[in-house]
Amino acid sequence: MGAPEAFTATTDVGHWIAGAARPATGGRSQAVFNPATGAVARQVHLASVDDVNAAVAAAAAAQPAWGDMPPIRRARVLNAFLALLNQHRDTLAAMITAEHGKVFTDAQGEVTRGIDIVEFACGIPQLLKGDFSDQASTGIDNWTLRQPLGVVAGITPFNFPCMVPMWMFPVALACGNAFILKPSERDPSASLFMAELLKQAGLPDGVFNVVQGDKVAVDALLTHPDVKALSFVGSTPIAQYIYQTGAAHGKRVQALGGAKNHMVVMPDADLEQAVDALIGAGYGSAGERCMAISVALLVGDVAERIVPLLAERARTLKVKNPMALDAEMGPIVTREARDRIEGYIGLGVEEGATLVVDGRKHTVAGLEAGFFTGGTLFDHVTPAMRIYKEEIFGPVLACVRVPDMAAALQLINAHEFGNGVACFTSDGGVAREFSRRVQVGMVGINVPIPVPMAWQGFGGWKKSLFGDMHAYGEEGVRFYTKQKSVMQRWPDSIGKGAEFAMPTAR
Ligand code: NAD
Repeated sequence: MGAPEAFTATTDVGHWIAGAARPATGGRSQAVFNPATGAVARQVHLASVDDVNAAVAAAAAAQPAWGDMPPIRRARVLNAFLALLNQHRDTLAAMITAEHGKVFTDAQGEVTRGIDIVEFACGIPQLLKGDFSDQASTGIDNWTLRQPLGVVAGITPFNFPCMVPMWMFPVALACGNAFILKPSERDPSASLFMAELLKQAGLPDGVFNVVQGDKVAVDALLTHPDVKALSFVGSTPIAQYIYQTGAAHGKRVQALGGAKNHMVVMPDADLEQAVDALIGAGYGSAGERCMAISVALLVGDVAERIVPLLAERARTLKVKNPMALDAEMGPIVTREARDRIEGYIGLGVEEGATLVVDGRKHTVAGLEAGFFTGGTLFDHVTPAMRIYKEEIFGPVLACVRVPDMAAALQLINAHEFGNGVACFTSDGGVAREFSRRVQVGMVGINVPIPVPMAWQGFGGWKKSLFGDMHAYGEEGVRFYTKQKSVMQRWPDSIGKGAEFAMPTAR
């Protein structure tokens, strides 16, 4: 494969309302950076309340006909979208790399995991089948069906500008809802490209809308009476705010938050596999994944054996231009995020952790103004330290030494986050007990990043998710629909007059 084509458009990124780009109204805008060069690449418009109201009105006008369409016809539109996504997957991946900074091969993986959800949503006629009870009582049948909610919205984070929106809108649209996406203002271009592909696929205008923006747009969606449900993915304080405010305005809300994911390495684990797993899951996407491993819990004598191997690998990570096909780590999304991460490294030193590999002040030849930092490795981190307790969201791996599995489990279960976790061992009994006892939503056994498949559903526990239902999979179908129960009897079976006692099947 030759070098992929970089995304270099300089046009402003605006909103997409009623099937067309919405012209700039002269309102606020914000710079979008190329994190690899550090340069401003383009501007993103920030929606006003009027822009949001226009998007909701377009969605509300389009939804009834879309919701009434037979599910198989909605699925055909998604099938056409799927074909277009496959055709343009590398264009999308290049857009992600240009604004997020993750390496191109990782961006390709992100697009693929998003496409998985579209494939799942193409099966919507099967997923929307209700339950039917024939002869629930004499001459009476009872069945359930699931109907769309109406207009729903999704608010998404910077770290997966394609995949996380696709956790939401393919399922929401397949269920018959109209959707408004409020993507991250840091990497907004992928959202508009997906909107254009949906239009090309035959989606009626107004069924999918994009409002770019910040808190102003989010608050307008949170309080708009015509928005029936909100899906959010982002940091925990904002997730909690979205959950509480949305609920106070009578909306259904699922709000996925931050994480601090642990990986336990037992003394009987395959050490080579564990090193590969920790390096990939700790430093992949520069640690800017909600399923990144940021804590290695090293049991018994594992630390003595594994820390030198990790150090060697962390020191030699290929941190470079993210479009290079052999790059292992690109830049951090913004200068502020890079400085925050490096601030945590300084804090870790002050707190008394052993800094084994220091990634600070990493520069890449030819990209000196890029927002790069190298891989950082700490040893002897303790649970009292802030670098253990708080989400750093960068390429910083903290090694904590524990005597046994019981101590490892106690730490994981006491942590405020519960998104993902992994255990590396060659003992099936240990693995089984670990998966049963751990208080975390997604568990990997000898799998470092156990992101569930499209049909399984994604969600953490504790402060990693506010709400009842996980994203996508059958939980997603339940989230984006409401159940109706119909009980039916035809007149010729009636004849006894009014019944005043509770009807029963006897
Ligand atoms: P963020 O919380 O800063 O932003 C997420 C979204 O909320 C963006 O669209 C942003 O515009 C909006 N927002 C930001 N501040 C707001 C405010 N005060 N009021 C209303 N809306 C606001 O998160 P981020 O930095 O974009 O993403 C990184 C975070 O997302 C990390 O904490 C990561 O763990 C988390 N994340 C979680 C999951 C998951 O599945 N649990 C997945 C991906 C990312």
